[in-house]
Order: sequence, then structure tokens, then C-alpha cells
Amino acid sequence: YTADGYTTALEALIRRAQAELVVLPHTYRVRDYGPKLATRFATVLASDVIRCAIDSGQLVLVRQIFQGKLNADTRVTGPPPHFVSIQAGAYRADQLRAGAAPVEGFTPELDAAAIRTRPSEPFREAQRAVDLATADMIVSVGRGIKEKENLPMVEELANVLGAELGASRPICDNGWVPMERQVGSSGQTVAPKLYLAVGISGAIQHLVGMKGSKTIVAINRDRNAPIFEVADYGIVGDLFEVVPALVEELRKTKG
Ligand code: FAD
Repeated sequence: YTADGYTTALEALIRRAQAELVVLPHTYRVRDYGPKLATRFATVLASDVIRCAIDSGQLVLVRQIFQGKLNADTRVTGPPPHFVSIQAGAYRADQLRAGAAPVEGFTPELDAAAIRTRPSEPFREAQRAVDLATADMIVSVGRGIKEKENLPMVEELANVLGAELGASRPICDNGWVPMERQVGSSGQTVAPKLYLAVGISGAIQHLVGMKGSKTIVAINRDRNAPIFEVADYGIVGDLFEVVPALVEELRKTKG
């Protein structure tokens, strides 16, 4: 991979196809070459889009602002092509309708001298001590927990269930839970049988990492929290009351 190579190849393809809309995945690579590619067409990349719609014949892109607190409708102006990158998990694969589009081969002409970077060995992450991706059950904790001192309550819930502990990003950023237990777009992607979210709002960057879980249970005192949109079971309540009650009941059933 090189940004120069990808940009040159895609530019030629887009010009040949006279594409009006170029839809890319919001990956680290696209973040690297996407803006450069759009600039070749004197336009911008509308990045990290979570929804697209057509309104009165115009493309409307939904992007999150203020750390996911607000959704903003964005319209692109100017002549095509328009460039969009879509956040992972923004659309549910099981709700897609099958379509048909011809797949055409394309061999770009690349001049090696025009590629200014030389990639070295791919970076390999250190072996993870915890592999949440293979866990059957995960109890994940978010900022609703308020203080590090309150964590043992959620750890106890994880223990009594025999679940791994996960966390949202702010909890890991604070150093309360190790980074390797972070779930989300910049953490691990998990798909356990049970995902229990405790005091997690459900920002898109968190959802993309756990939406694939078989059963999602959420405890949150805000009934409008986005986590409830993906939850199979929701408990609207104060986690400081709900979690100890759950632990007590689980203890009883386990004898
Ligand atoms: P908050 O959004 O503050 O939510 C706390 C929730 O707890 C609220 O819904 C509140 O109602 C509830 N609550 C409060 N008190 C109680 C109580 N007593 N009882 C019950 N509920 C209570 N985030 C991730 O998680 N993983 C990522 O990988 C990730 N990557 C990111 C990458 C980028 C580039 C960016 C910009 C952001 C990323 N984020 C990620 C951050 C993300 O946008 C959110 O800020 C974060 O997920 C919020 O964490 P939270 O839900 O714990 O906190």
C-alpha cells in the first residue's frame, strides 16, 4: 500500500467510469489517501458518514459531531464526483437487500517513479493478553460508573457470570481498565453470545465494536441512550442499584 499508488490508480478509474459518487470504507487507509484523492478532483471527502439518504434529488450525508452527541445532515455541493467514507457497522449486513452490479476489471498504469514512499514490513501488534473476540460473555463498563473506585461492582458481575470485562474508550483512556479491553472502532471488535453494557451511552464508535453480539443487554438510566437501539433487553435504571441486585440474583441461581 502507498497513498500515491492508490490515489493514482483510483483517479484513473473514477475518470474512466465518470463516477458521480465514490463510496469508500472509513478505514485507516482511506483516511490516509481519501482526502488526497478527492483533492485531485478539486473537492473534499465527506468522512465518517453513518447514513446516506436522497432528499429532493440531493444526497444527504449524516455525520456525527461533538464526539457523537449530535448528528449533522451534510449536503455536498459543486460538480461530481463526490467522495464519501462510511463508518464500519453503520449499516447492518443482515438487513441489506441483494442487488446486482456488473464487476469490471481495471488495470491501472502506474509509474514507479511517481510513488514517493517505500513501505517496509507491516507493523505487527504485540500479542494480546486478552482476546475479547473469542469470549462467550462480556460485561462492559462505561462512564456511567463515574469513579475508578466503583469498578469492583461491575467486575463482580463479570465474575459471577464467568464473563470477560470490557470497557468503553473513556474508561480505558483514564487508565481504569487496560487498553486491550477497549471495545469499539479503535479497540476490539467482539461478537459474544452475551454483551452486557453497563453505563455505556452507545456512541457509534462503541457500537461498531459490539453490534454483532448475539444478545445485547444494556443498563442505562437514560431511556433515550442510543445503546437501547441495538439492545435486545434494556434496563432503564441506576446501575448502582441494578448491578448489585443482578449479582445477588445470579448468586442465588448459581447456588
Ligand atoms: P458516555 O457517552 O459519557 O455515556 C455514559 C452513559 O452512562 C450515559 O448514557 C449515561 O446515561 C449513563 N449513566 C450515567 N450514570 C448512570 C447510572 N448511575 N446508572 C446507569 N447509567 C448511567 N468509544 C468506545 O467506546 N470505543 C472506541 O473504540 C472508540 N473509538 C473512538 C474513536 C474516535 C476517532 C472517536 C472520535 C471516538 C471514539 N470513541 C470510542 C468515543 C465515543 O465517541 C464515545 O465518546 C464513548 O464511547 C463514550 O463512552 P461511554 O458510553 O462510556 O460514556
